[in-house]
Amino acid sequence: MGLSQRLRQSLPPRAIRYLVATRSLMRTARATYGQFPRHCPVCGHQGYFLGAGFPLRVDCLCPACGSGDRQRLLKLWTGANRHALAGKRLLHFGPEPSVVPFIRPVAADYVSGDLEAGRADRVLNIEAIDLPDASFDVVLCLHVLEHVDDRRALGEMFRVLTPGGLALLMFPIIDGWDATYENEQARSPQDRLLHFGQKDHVRFYGNDVRERIRGAGFTLAEFTAEEPLVTTHALRRGEKLFLGRKPS
Ligand SMILES: [Zn+2]
Repeated sequence: MGLSQRLRQSLPPRAIRYLVATRSLMRTARATYGQFPRHCPVCGHQGYFLGAGFPLRVDCLCPACGSGDRQRLLKLWTGANRHALAGKRLLHFGPEPSVVPFIRPVAADYVSGDLEAGRADRVLNIEAIDLPDASFDVVLCLHVLEHVDDRRALGEMFRVLTPGGLALLMFPIIDGWDATYENEQARSPQDRLLHFGQKDHVRFYGNDVRERIRGAGFTLAEFTAEEPLVTTHALRRGEKLFLGRKPS
């Protein structure tokens, strides 16, 4: 919806630009506390979700359990595929507080790892995992690969998985791009924000990420949610959960 023709004619261009920006700001502010009532599959909350992220994604964060869209997508998959986790030894990198409660009780043996002390059960570097070969049946790694040397990380996840083991992977991806975008010149936090959308990201994946995952030895399947689940649970349209399987 544009400004009325009469208003455009009566104001100088600069004033119109400020008016458009202010109106956008006010819309964003109104949407921050929820646009439509949604349902959270993680905790059962029914109601408005909060906006989160920069730029703001409306209806993103469940106010009750703190789940974001990616955690809710994972919950939908794990809810329908409980057998994939039940009784398994599971290693979880960068454990999200909204994910741990629905993953830990299902796994027989659950270990979380993070590079920073105090954020997980163990201090672990995903690029050089201090764990034996074939010691876990499932590795869970949501939005970590875009921060690290992903080829080393994928190789290490493959190594610690048992034959037949499963890596559950999520990351930002521009599926319309054929090639992953990396840029050695973009090293400062501001440059990384400009180029990769976040100050500590080092790439934006294109659809060739599938070859990177297969290149580590995995076979690959994908899960995404469609309607009415997307609207009901406020998921990101087309977001993928990648399922890397280590051959038996
Ligand atoms: Zn919730």
